[in-house]
Amino acid sequence: MRLSQLLVPTLREIPAEAEIPSHILMLKAALMRKLASGVYIYLPLGQRILRKVEQIVREEMDRAGSQEVLMAALIPAELLKESGRWDVFGPEMFKLKDRNERDFCLGPTHEEVFTDLIRNEVKSYRQLPLILYQIQTKFRDERRPRFGVMRSREFIMKDAYSFDVDWEGLDKSFNKMYEAYCRIFDRCGLKYLVVEADSGAMGGKDSKEFMVISSIGEAAIAYCDNCGYAANEEKAECLINQEIVEEMLPKEKVYTPNIRTIEELVNFLGITPDKFVKTLIYKAKDNVIAALIRGDRDLNETKLLNILGIREEELELADASIVEKVTGAKVGFAGPIGLKGEVLIIVDNEIPQMRNFILGANETDYHIKNVNYGRDFKADVVADIKNVIEGDKCPRCGSPLKIDRGIEVGHIFKLGTKYSDALGAKYVDEDGNEKPIIMGCYGIGINRTVAAIIEQHHDEKGIIWPMSVAPYHVIIVPVNVSNEAQNRVAEDIYVVLQKEGIEVLIDDRDLRAGVKFNDADLLGIPIRITVGKKVDDGIVEIKLREKEEAEEVKISDVVEKVKNIIKEKM
Ligand code: ATP
Ligand code: MG
Repeated sequence: MRLSQLLVPTLREIPAEAEIPSHILMLKAALMRKLASGVYIYLPLGQRILRKVEQIVREEMDRAGSQEVLMAALIPAELLKESGRWDVFGPEMFKLKDRNERDFCLGPTHEEVFTDLIRNEVKSYRQLPLILYQIQTKFRDERRPRFGVMRSREFIMKDAYSFDVDWEGLDKSFNKMYEAYCRIFDRCGLKYLVVEADSGAMGGKDSKEFMVISSIGEAAIAYCDNCGYAANEEKAECLINQEIVEEMLPKEKVYTPNIRTIEELVNFLGITPDKFVKTLIYKAKDNVIAALIRGDRDLNETKLLNILGIREEELELADASIVEKVTGAKVGFAGPIGLKGEVLIIVDNEIPQMRNFILGANETDYHIKNVNYGRDFKADVVADIKNVIEGDKCPRCGSPLKIDRGIEVGHIFKLGTKYSDALGAKYVDEDGNEKPIIMGCYGIGINRTVAAIIEQHHDEKGIIWPMSVAPYHVIIVPVNVSNEAQNRVAEDIYVVLQKEGIEVLIDDRDLRAGVKFNDADLLGIPIRITVGKKVDDGIVEIKLREKEEAEEVKISDVVEKVKNIIKEKM
């Protein structure tokens, strides 16, 4: 392809809303443009990259024995009503009506559609197991679309679904997908962790997420270098210190005028935050909850939701009027002792192991010190409701945990019979008995994967594509297009490389060499062939985007050399 003809309107000025490297570079390098909030269109280079990633996904899914199909993006409401998700999805689902007032949605995911296909087409154990997949556009009206295509409202997903006769079969399918995912993300040049993920209040047996390590990741991951434990924040646990050395002291009320926050208490009393216990008052549907965690910790709302068995929208921090009603005090002095009315007390599992801590007295301007769990108050539930922090002990081996941030690019999930029960997807076994089909589901965000690759592969000049997903392998830059010899050599190499099946660009634009080099760096093409003055000595230069220095090569060797580099880096 000739750069003079390629639609690649690179940008100098980037809109301020682009905050992260991948978003900035995808706009700058003209891979994509924004059409509306959370909606993007792809230009020729962007589309080529998407296709490359899709192709890797396709090859590995096929290798794992999965079969490609294509479902509809327009889904009739009846199917989602059967599973109960028509209402569960809430505002994230794009709903619409047809001309006859029938309800539809634009598929946010396709469990129901696949289950429907299988219940209609599969009758016997002989037709199982099956793993089907598609690569298709999904629609989700995200509450906060952001970071460009990382979290957009329309995106391409590879979603696969497995159908087995029993749980053992599901384990096998799940492992196949696990291995395929590892191969996919390895081939994309990504560094990632596979973490245990929350499977939600709605059930589900085993859930793993593929997290690309990146400082801009939305999810925190706890992992252990010693034993390999890795889990995302919603799931990560830690060992609780079991030794209790202190004796219980008599409980004592302390006057803390206008001292409400942990920070103020630390300053006022001169005691470290881990000696305090925070009491957070929540409203959960129609109930009031008091959740207690150590003063230096953060509460994990997903863990709390799972204990309560409710959805995100049903939980919120209580407003001042509720807090004042149940504590009988101004906001900032809540504690578990002497709460008024029906309040469910949930205590983090670390608190029973603490001694002589300080918490709110449910009386304005007062706290209580030397409080001890069991002696002074009891909870309705003791459970893990905290976020782990760096240095907490690994739940498996006790070594200190590390915390990193990650981008979720893939998710594999054992569904069991959730959808086969709801939609009645059954098979007849060898003995003629009807049984529910056991399912798994497996997703990869294609566009998010592209963005994640850029997050891990860029520098101040631009993108550095891994060979496997690069839009073109080679860019030929004639330094001076009006020099006949340079032009001829560049064009010759271009023709031969094309014949060899190598994806090659030639920068035939009449621009200064510096401008062309900058563009080549921005676009991130892995191999640059520079054709300059030395053509008269039969020499050109090869420079890899990932390296600083260039190498001089004889013109007669250049094609062989390029072929070898590509082979080696694929
Ligand atoms: P998240 O927690 O990031 O919202 P999710 O749990 O909703 O993700 P899944 O339903 O498991 O995601 O979807 C499978 C994959 O699709 C994800 O691993 C991710 O790569 C991709 N994905 C999900 N939502 C988006 C989005 N809004 N934009 C781009 N990719 C997405
Ligand atoms: Mg989501």
